[in-house]
Amino acid sequence: MNQEYTSHPVVGIDLGTTNSAIAYIRGGKPELIASAAGQYLLPSVVLIDPKGNIIVGQDARDALVAMPDRSIAAVKRKMGSAEEFVLAGQTFTPEEISALILKELKRRADELYGEGEKEAVITVPAYFTDEQRRATKLAGELAGFLVERIINEPTAAALSFGLDHLEEDRTFLVYDLGGGTFDVSIVEMFSGVLEVKASSGDRMLGGEDFDWRLVDWFSEQMLAEHGVDPRLDIRGKALLKEEAERVKMALSTEESITISLPLVTVKDNHPLGLTVEVTRARFVSLIEDPIDQTLERVQEVIRDAELTVKDIDEVLLVGGSTRIPLVRDRISALLGRMPRSDVHPDEAVALGAAVQAGLKAGLLSESGLIATDVAPFSMGIAVLAEGPRGRARPGGFSPIISRNTVIPVTRSQKFYTSEMGQTAVEIEIYQGEHEWVKHNHRLGEFILEGIPENWKAHEAVEVTFRYNLNGILEVAARSVSSGEEMSITVQDALNRLNRQEFEESVQRLEQLWLDVPQGIEEDDDLEEMNESLMEDWDLLDELPEDLDDPDEDWDLPEDDEAPTMVHEEGKVLVRQAREVLEGVETSLQEKLLAAILELEQVLQDEEVDRIRQAMNQVTDLLIDAEL
Ligand code: AMP
Repeated sequence: MNQEYTSHPVVGIDLGTTNSAIAYIRGGKPELIASAAGQYLLPSVVLIDPKGNIIVGQDARDALVAMPDRSIAAVKRKMGSAEEFVLAGQTFTPEEISALILKELKRRADELYGEGEKEAVITVPAYFTDEQRRATKLAGELAGFLVERIINEPTAAALSFGLDHLEEDRTFLVYDLGGGTFDVSIVEMFSGVLEVKASSGDRMLGGEDFDWRLVDWFSEQMLAEHGVDPRLDIRGKALLKEEAERVKMALSTEESITISLPLVTVKDNHPLGLTVEVTRARFVSLIEDPIDQTLERVQEVIRDAELTVKDIDEVLLVGGSTRIPLVRDRISALLGRMPRSDVHPDEAVALGAAVQAGLKAGLLSESGLIATDVAPFSMGIAVLAEGPRGRARPGGFSPIISRNTVIPVTRSQKFYTSEMGQTAVEIEIYQGEHEWVKHNHRLGEFILEGIPENWKAHEAVEVTFRYNLNGILEVAARSVSSGEEMSITVQDALNRLNRQEFEESVQRLEQLWLDVPQGIEEDDDLEEMNESLMEDWDLLDELPEDLDDPDEDWDLPEDDEAPTMVHEEGKVLVRQAREVLEGVETSLQEKLLAAILELEQVLQDEEVDRIRQAMNQVTDLLIDAEL
């Protein structure tokens, strides 16, 4: 049993589309935790066997073809969606399936540390939306973890690498192509501080797509030969998918492979098989387009970070699909350098998650490593905006936090009433990059009432977005003159599951499972969303900045974060503020310095409220300085 922890043991988890892994810190270094059978990677596949037992991992994966209606793979792609799955007649949400995978990983940690609470850092693709992050956190909680932090996979990969290379100041490009998602990030390491500069990706692109492209190609061969589409037969389709993945992997080392399947499907009671040679060139022609798409993202992220290809010092390849030679070739050609070969594509993310967990728990304080992250999307609200022919139209998008802003971050902006006598306003929250909200992703909405009656554009509403290190968003709105305020934590994923449903879900999983999950964390209160639609006056105007009121201090919404989280956010804020201090105009510099010193001071003690207050002060000054 390992005693190297403070309060609870901490672990880092890579919850992958294809495989998952769990790691911990031992002797100041991250290490994967093996299963009882000595395996590090856990296939992310769940099966309910004919006896009703839950099986997670390789055995479940082996049963995908034989028992397609009892097994499920690649559930990560559905996280945050309302889709449900029926396994052996029982219905599951994506979070519940993920929770079963996480429970299997928890079992490994329990064997190492003994039963009891475990804190976990779980990774998600940088490009995951808010709901997907919340769904992942929820899955961790359903599995019985105290989910301390959700971090981005490329950050985790760079963290696992960074711990061994602290002395070098370098710019990394992390290219992560897994089973279901693609992520690319620029990460800078400077004096032991690891900062994600920009991220991009595609959450619907990965090795699974390459398998399906091969399945389609196999099916075309069978259609041509027998006039039968094997994809219409659920078993035939599963068999071809399994074969496709095998062929794909073999083609990473072989130039060509011949498959010979005696039975794929049946026609008029006759078995139909497939024998065909697949060359690497054929496979390349099938997957070239999506790989080229990833390269476009690579170029975009380099531009976003305001760098050029020459500024990239190291290329880290993560995710099983980066074993495909075409991927390595194209990346090397584009960036003019060979990727690092000492990063394990399947293990780096879990190891990095453990590093983050270790940093948080103070197990790696001697390393001097600090990590920051960025918001993967712009986030803002719907406003009146100028439409065609210069007329004001509802549905414009006004970003408050822009994409790639370093987090944690708090940003405020004032908006103005758009109607005379307007006493309420609907704050509609979106994420995305389009200037019109209908093309972006809606995160939620709430209504702020109690605005005093006044002329159009004479009442200001200050809207504050706070995006924390878990990538979770809090939005508050306040009428500047009446002081009336409202706030919500954006939690689409949780809105589908209230507290009672949560408990029921935990119990259901427990019944299916053998052991009892521990320490379910009390989550944020679920907000009742006001469904009533406001009539004409549901929109804000963002324009008349000249009506600006002096900024007033106001408290951010209370939360139930652990003090350590607030401390950590505070420390990051101190560092960010110190970094920009010199560039701030002289009139604000002194105030900012005083606020930073005060924040440093209150960070010495435990009072969350005081820390929050001091953080708000610093943030307000940064906003005043337009930084
Ligand atoms: P990950 O999500 O990082 O676990 O990556 C899993 C994906 O990598 C799956 O789609 C695998 O089929 C794919 N993969 C694993 N090994 C190889 C390989 N040798 N060649 C090609 N793809 C691979």
